[in-house]
Amino acid sequence: MLPPMWQDSQPVKSLLGRLTHAALGCEAPARDDALTLLGSSDDELMNVVASAYEVRRTFFGNRVKLNFLLSMKTGLCPEDCQYCSQRRDSTADILKYPMVDEAVCVEAADRAVAAGAKRLCMVASGRGPTPHELEQVTANVRAVKAKHPELEICACLGLLAEGHATQLKEAGVYAYNHNLNTSEKHYDAICGTHTFADRIETVGRVAAEGLSPCSGALFGMGESHEDIVDLAFDLRRLQPDSVPVNFLIPIDGTPLKGRWELTPQRCLRILALYRFFFPDVELRIAGGRELHLRSLQPFGLMIANSIFAGDYLTTEGQPAGTDRQMIADLGFEIEGTDEDTLPRQRPDMVHLRNRGIGTDLPANA
Ligand code: SF4
Repeated sequence: MLPPMWQDSQPVKSLLGRLTHAALGCEAPARDDALTLLGSSDDELMNVVASAYEVRRTFFGNRVKLNFLLSMKTGLCPEDCQYCSQRRDSTADILKYPMVDEAVCVEAADRAVAAGAKRLCMVASGRGPTPHELEQVTANVRAVKAKHPELEICACLGLLAEGHATQLKEAGVYAYNHNLNTSEKHYDAICGTHTFADRIETVGRVAAEGLSPCSGALFGMGESHEDIVDLAFDLRRLQPDSVPVNFLIPIDGTPLKGRWELTPQRCLRILALYRFFFPDVELRIAGGRELHLRSLQPFGLMIANSIFAGDYLTTEGQPAGTDRQMIADLGFEIEGTDEDTLPRQRPDMVHLRNRGIGTDLPANA
């Protein structure tokens, strides 16, 4: 007869066997298995991480992709996404500025390339780009690509109208990020100015017009296990090439301030689930990594194969040297670079500081 502990872990072991087997065949998890994984106990966490790691290792080996954010326009948004410090009525203490020009973007790209960045994510706040903003963004992208043709550019400008993605592609954009964030059922609770269907439409449009779709999630906003699984199935139907997973930073001055419902263990279970749903797709730990995974970040990297290095849109990330040390300690390698220096802070922030704009990074904005 097996000892009691072993008997208890048998159902989880067979669950993880099924999830791993399906993922290695690039099949979606069964819905019940996905829900059971999210409800599994902390005692089983290392088994969960080990199974997700097997999938990660199969498709991505020991590689880690680094991404850098450039916020081309910050704040001043008419939308009401409850989690966002840039929303209308936000009283968050953030730096706000209109669309930056080519010089700012090229300097940011210089710094990112010098640090070995593979992808530069060029982000602007707002519901979607105005014609004038789109003109400036395409000019910015052309200027960056003229100097750094090898740099992968991802744009993130909100909802796109027909033809916008084509214009971006012609300027040199490779990918477009537009997150679904939460499930369709939960969407009304976090945003009243656009719909889940609007977001689906933009991701579909991006793919149809030839850009690489990047779409992911934001957790910690009161979503249930069912919401997490529903979202995974909806994202999978969109066939994204990359899936960023964010964990809510409950910023003061937003309606979700003070909302602390995540634990490092829950974050790892969610990441593992998304690895099983997206076995061969770039899975990126995005905002909230340091805050929510804390000392368990290395386990996060055993599941995901991509992170943002440096700062986020309106909050600071941990020093790049800490990320580099963590990657080295895991025996992993940074994709496409052998540089040993990475920027301490987001390139555009440094540039703006050099211009005398915003002398301090907002601490929690
Ligand atoms: S997430 Fe985007 S659309 Fe929503 S409030 Fe923030 S900047 Fe605006």
